Amino acid sequence: MKIDDIKTVGVVGAGTMGNGIAHVFAQSGFKVVLCDKSEASLEKATATITKNLDRQLKKEKITAEQKSATLANLSMVTALSECGDCQLVIEAVFENLEVKDAIFSELGKILPAESVLASNTSSLPITQLASSTGRADRFVGMHFMNPVPVMKLVELIRGLATSDETFSLIYALCEKLGKTPVEVNDYPGFVANRILMPMINEAAYTLMEGVAGAKEIDSVMMLGMNHPMGPLTLADFIGLDVCLAIMETLHEGYGDSKYRPCPLLRKMVQAGYLGRKSGRGFHSYE
Ligand code: NAD
Repeated sequence: MKIDDIKTVGVVGAGTMGNGIAHVFAQSGFKVVLCDKSEASLEKATATITKNLDRQLKKEKITAEQKSATLANLSMVTALSECGDCQLVIEAVFENLEVKDAIFSELGKILPAESVLASNTSSLPITQLASSTGRADRFVGMHFMNPVPVMKLVELIRGLATSDETFSLIYALCEKLGKTPVEVNDYPGFVANRILMPMINEAAYTLMEGVAGAKEIDSVMMLGMNHPMGPLTLADFIGLDVCLAIMETLHEGYGDSKYRPCPLLRKMVQAGYLGRKSGRGFHSYE
């Protein structure tokens, strides 16, 4: 497949990442089929994309015509079968291997043979996800960063069976979206989360052990290390359930105790304190 053959892109999962991925593709002129099993998620995604386009319009980064064209490129669906005409489908559902596997095995059956599959997983093995699709050579990891319309990086992950042709195609596609792809290999956490998550986890331990309060920990990292936001604020943005899932993947994948998830992080997820999306995480957003 050539890059100009990609006209319609499916995005499965319309949460934090899915709505952003749908936004950037639609804004770059692709038809986008955004699929979520939850109607409420799709409604929220439409509202979020509209709000973000309005912000771009206000800052004069896009015109009113571009806003309407972007919205017109989007269709919201609840059935995976509606993605059947896509040349590329990117999965962005919960960070759970069984849930993703079920989606990929169904997509493997309904898509044309040449269509490419991608996962936005933060840390699950690309090689393993690819294996349930019957097209492991046309499978790649596309790890966008949050918030997708703003962040330039896409960590582009080669599974063991990803073909050079597929990799080059998706690399060029990322550039067409105005993103900067960086090639990495398939190991737990890839590069971004292998380095970022242990820092967030350590910040949670620092809080749990009473070394400092959440505000103070964030202040030290912002003022002392020049980070634009502190690790606990960043964790609230990412979602504490996502952070915990990534630490568990690192712990299991490397079998090294240095990746053990902080008990406080686990307890907060059990309590439903998931960060911004639930109104409360290490900080409060009510
Ligand atoms: P989220 O919880 O905000 O959204 C997940 C969405 O998937 C929900 O709307 C849910 O209804 C939908 N979903 C679940 N099962 C489904 C199914 N079977 N069919 C259709 N839709 C289904 O999650 P998120 O934060 O957007 O994360 C999505 C993926 O992106 C995860 O793999 C995560 O690791 C990865 N990721 C997250 C971030 C981040 O900062 N949040 C950054 C990079 C990558």
